[in-house]
Amino acid sequence: MTPEQIASLRQEKYNATVVSLLKVHPDLLIMRIRPDKGRAPHKPGQYSTLGLGYWEVRHPGCQLETLPADAEQRLVKRAYSISCSILDDHGQLLDIEHTDWLEFYIVLVRESNKADPPALTPRLFMLREGERLFCGEKITGNYNLDPVKPDDTVLFLSTGTGEAPHNYMLWQLLRRNHQGRILSACCVRYLKDLAYLATHHTLMRRHVNYTYLPLTTREASNTGHKVYIQDLLASGEMERILGKPLDPARTHVFLCGNPKMIGVPEKDRTSGERVFPKPPGVIELLEKRGFVCDQPALKIKGNIHYEEYW
Ligand SMILES: Cc1cc2nc3c(=O)[nH]c(=O)nc-3n(C[C@H](O)[C@H](O)[C@H](O)COP(=O)(O)OP(=O)(O)OC[C@H]3O[C@@H](n4cnc5c(N)ncnc54)[C@H](O)[C@@H]3O)c2cc1C
Repeated sequence: MTPEQIASLRQEKYNATVVSLLKVHPDLLIMRIRPDKGRAPHKPGQYSTLGLGYWEVRHPGCQLETLPADAEQRLVKRAYSISCSILDDHGQLLDIEHTDWLEFYIVLVRESNKADPPALTPRLFMLREGERLFCGEKITGNYNLDPVKPDDTVLFLSTGTGEAPHNYMLWQLLRRNHQGRILSACCVRYLKDLAYLATHHTLMRRHVNYTYLPLTTREASNTGHKVYIQDLLASGEMERILGKPLDPARTHVFLCGNPKMIGVPEKDRTSGERVFPKPPGVIELLEKRGFVCDQPALKIKGNIHYEEYW
């Protein structure tokens, strides 16, 4: 494709501009984008879509791609939760209503376990400030704070960039002066994979009802002692940190990221029974303790809410 053709496709198909882009490390970024038509109405916790043309250059060091035959002029689009840095440059709670951007927290997927190689993140990671991309006009999803009452305990449990919607929901809870306990735990490989760590430390100093719990599986100080979110529940560590038992009547749990951590049960085709994955994810562990998971198909609204990233 000629540079002129590429310029024309970008003009035709892109509708948003990158206003800031922070590479936390080569494989992790926080990016703010401004949609041309303004930011769509939304609730913290929801997600939008980002896209780039298959014609864009891919990041070096990623699994090679054979372009689909009809791909040349198409966009590759993926879902992304809206994230939030929670504090502004002066350390105050962000005044999001007076901003015009959306924040995203994205990890570079270099290799995929699926049939097709990763298509979007190798392209997103080539973006620079001022450049253009596609952003879906709708922000959607049922993952939000609607069911949470002011005194409820709120647990945000995530892996990797699954922290994104939790940061935005945490901002909302702090904004509305939430009275209940809030605990956010995030499991990553290394501490450097926690882009918002310093902010969470600041928030813990300011809000006695807030605890952030970073968990790592490959940090040198952890050798031989990987800690997963599931372990926190199974070992009773969660209660120890909260200082009280987990009470299903007054607790909402939000799970986001790796499907293995979440552990959504499948329906057995013949018996119709719910069958949990092995090893158990958080849903099974919590249901054994009286929690109820959302089941949209059956219109069941519980106190375990989840967003799977793949
Ligand atoms: C509702 C929703 C919200 C999402 N929000 C985010 C977000 O805020 N930040 C984000 O980084 N991703 C998010 N994702 C994942 C995102 O949509 C893409 O799948 C991901 O960025 C990889 O895109 P890709 O085209 O490069 O590879 P894909 O072909 O989409 O994925 C290839 C493989 O990469 C792995 N993978 C996908 N996402 C991740 C991830 N986040 N961390 C580790 N491994 C992953 C999976 O094994 C997947 O099969 C979200 C997904 C959904 C469904």
